Amino acid sequence: MTIFQKVLNGEIPCHRVYEDEHVLAFLDINPLSRGHTLVIPKEPAETLDRLSDESAAAIGRVLPRLCRAVLKATETRHFNVLQNNGAPAHQAVGHVHFHIIPKAEDGSGLGIGWKVTTMENGADLAATIAGCLER
Ligand code: AMP
Repeated sequence: MTIFQKVLNGEIPCHRVYEDEHVLAFLDINPLSRGHTLVIPKEPAETLDRLSDESAAAIGRVLPRLCRAVLKATETRHFNVLQNNGAPAHQAVGHVHFHIIPKAEDGSGLGIGWKVTTMENGADLAATIAGCLER
């Protein structure tokens, strides 16, 4: 069982920000900046690609509103939303979660190493991905 499932079960306390039928939001225990908030589905999906449309829609509905609340409460204008999937992609907890991370005046927040690669044959690749989409 993941630590977030224990939070959902009430076995581990959290600083709750928001809750509805499908979604829970609470403060990250090791914040990158003040107000760093986690938004999780109640559905125990490990990674985003395994999440149901219903849970995804529920998160999508509330995410911008939660971002606005975090910005307002922390008097911040800029922020990152981060969503990691798989240990090599820096996922530590195997339960889908979205980070809302304010970029504070003091520079605290998410640091990003953005190393681009070259795109080859974009037309073919786009068509391949489009062909893999489930209807
Ligand atoms: P990730 O690397 O995307 O899997 O991020 C997991 C996040 O969960 C980290 O930012 C942790 O600080 C956070 N975290 C782990 N346990 C707890 C907890 N009990 N309550 C709140 N946040 C937690």
